[in-house]
Amino acid sequence: MSTRAPSTGRRTRRRRSSVATRLVGMLLALGLVVTVLVLLVRLISPDGEDDNRSQAPAAQMSVPMTAPPTAVPTAVPTPALPAVDVTGWELRLIDFDHPLGEDFVPASLTDVGDGQQMDSRVAPAFLRLMQDAKAAGFGDAYVCSGYRDYATQHVIYFDNHVDVYMAQGMSEEEANAKARLAVNYPGTSEHQSGLCADVLEYAGQDMEPYIGGSGLMLWLEQHCAEYGFVVRYPDNKTGITGVEYEPWHLRYVGVEAARYIMDHGLCLEEFLEMYDPGLTATPVPTAVPTPIPGGVG
Ligand SMILES: [Zn+2]
Repeated sequence: MSTRAPSTGRRTRRRRSSVATRLVGMLLALGLVVTVLVLLVRLISPDGEDDNRSQAPAAQMSVPMTAPPTAVPTAVPTPALPAVDVTGWELRLIDFDHPLGEDFVPASLTDVGDGQQMDSRVAPAFLRLMQDAKAAGFGDAYVCSGYRDYATQHVIYFDNHVDVYMAQGMSEEEANAKARLAVNYPGTSEHQSGLCADVLEYAGQDMEPYIGGSGLMLWLEQHCAEYGFVVRYPDNKTGITGVEYEPWHLRYVGVEAARYIMDHGLCLEEFLEMYDPGLTATPVPTAVPTPIPGGVG
């Protein structure tokens, strides 16, 4: 008994102390868990008692998580289209499918030199362009064609082209096909609008595409937009405009549109389509059309 009692007592004390240690450990662990839970609840709950202090960091944390998904552009950013009225007179599309008609005459015409006239609204800008071109070293710059009325266009097209070719033995169809390479069908020429002009380095210069890309033609290409003009029939847009490259043919469209068109290497059709494809769509014919597509300004 005497030898067992102490050992039993030590075992009991050891057992008691190990139970106590475990209890303390469990309490500490429980306390830790409760503390963590309380902290978590405060972090998550927007209604914590210390709202004022926790809102700011919570809001900061939530910004990247709740921000709307990617407003990042995927395409190459391009400057916004200018806020122009694409239904205004400056941007009117004039071609075989969008003719001015036999009766169209500009409201007012102004002399622009070399016996030519243009719409009075664009003549001042054109005169500045000519003045600056001459000052830039092209002193003999020559306006070979400005406003052209319907009757003149009719004479040029039929008398000077179709009739001549037919007299040479071509059929009417063949004569028309050849004529339309050189001149627009009456009523479909931009020249009837008074908004364009053909400019050459000197009177009598050949009007051939090869004169583009150098001399005055290059200067015009680089500077015409500053005056509100575009090269209406660019080199690589014949498939869209239906007209061969004419570096001399300048069309007024307004400075904002001109800058955008020239900066982006567009033709007028492409520019208008960016606003409304309907502007360049071929209208449904109301009468039997004469089968002569396109033409040259
Ligand atoms: Zn022209």
